[in-house]
Amino acid sequence: MPNSPKSRYWLFFHIVFIYIASSFIWWSYLLHKNNVANFNDVVERERTQFAINGGLLSRFEQSAVYTKLHADFRRTELMLYGEGVVFIGLISLGFWRIRKTFREEIAMTKQQNNFLLSITHELKSPLASLKLSMQTIQKRQLDAEHIKSMADMSMDDIERLELLVENILLASKIESANFSLNRELMDLSTITTTIYDKIIIKHSGQRKFLTEIEKDIYIYGDRFSFSSVIYNLIENAIKYSAADAEITVALTGDEKNAYLSVKDTGIGIPGTEKSRIFERFYRIGTEETRKTKGTGLGLFIVKHVVEMHKGSIQVKNNSPKGSIFEVSIPVGA
Ligand code: ADP
Repeated sequence: MPNSPKSRYWLFFHIVFIYIASSFIWWSYLLHKNNVANFNDVVERERTQFAINGGLLSRFEQSAVYTKLHADFRRTELMLYGEGVVFIGLISLGFWRIRKTFREEIAMTKQQNNFLLSITHELKSPLASLKLSMQTIQKRQLDAEHIKSMADMSMDDIERLELLVENILLASKIESANFSLNRELMDLSTITTTIYDKIIIKHSGQRKFLTEIEKDIYIYGDRFSFSSVIYNLIENAIKYSAADAEITVALTGDEKNAYLSVKDTGIGIPGTEKSRIFERFYRIGTEETRKTKGTGLGLFIVKHVVEMHKGSIQVKNNSPKGSIFEVSIPVGA
C-alpha cells in the first residue's frame, strides 16, 4: 500500500508511538536526575548539620539520618522505575492491540475485495455461457445430438451456480447466531457414494477416481450441510490437481466415529497455509491457486459444519505430492 491513506496512517501511527515512548523516557530521565540532585543537596545539608552537632564526618553514612535519606531516595527511584515500566508496558500493549486490529482489518478488507471480485467472475462466466448456449439453440437449427450436448453444458453451468449459491447461503447461515443443525440418523455411506458418483460423471475421464467407501456407516447429522462438506472436499481435490491426478475418497467407521478422507495428488498445501485455508474468504495467494476459480468459502463451511457435528478436520501432505483432508465425526453426536 505505498503512499496510500492507509500507509500514511500507518506511518503517523508509528511516529506517534515513538514520540510518546521517547518523551516518556526523556521525562523519566529528567525525574531521575532531579531525584539524584535533591538527594545530594539534602545529604550535603544533613552532613553539615551532622558536623555542627559534633559528629564524625567519616561516620555520617552509618548515621540514622543518612540511612533514612537513602531509603527515601531508593523508594522514589523504585517508584519512578516501577511506574515507568508499567506505563511503557501498558502503552506498548495498547499500541500492539491497535496495530493487530488494524492489520486484521486490512487483511479482511483485502479478502472481502477478492471475494467480491471472484464472486462476480463466478456468477458472470456460467451466466455468459448459458446465454450463449440458449442463443445458439434459438438462432440455429441444431440436430438432437447438438442440443443434448448444449443442454449438458448448460446443466454443468447451472450446477456450478447452484453450488456457489448454496455455499454463500450456508456460509451466511453459519455466521448467524441462530443457525442450528437439522439432525437425523443418516446413511453417510449412501450420501458419500451418491455425491461421489455425481461428481465423477461430471468430471468423467478428467481424473483417476478411486473409492474405498464402507457400507452402512451411519451418523446423526444434518444431511444438507454435511453433503456440502463432502462436495466441497471432493471438488477442491479436483480443482487443485492436474488432469492425470489420482483422487481417493474413503469412508470407514468404528463404534465411536465415522472417518471420511479425501486424498489427491495435486498441487498440495504449504505448511504455513494449512491453518489459514479454513478462514472465511481465504485463498492461497500463489499463481497456481489464483488460476482456479473459487470464493474461499468452501473450507470455512467444511470446518464449521464438522465442528458443529462435534467432529474434527485435519489436513496433511500426501506422498509424493498433494493433500489429504481427514474428517472424523462422532457417530452419535
Ligand atoms: P476456494 O476453493 O473457493 O478458493 P476453499 O475455502 O475451498 O476456497 O479453499 C481455500 C483455499 O485452500 C483454496 O483457495 C486453495 O488455495 C486451498 N485448497 C483447498 N483445497 C485444496 C487442495 N485439495 N489442494 C490444494 N489446495 C487446496
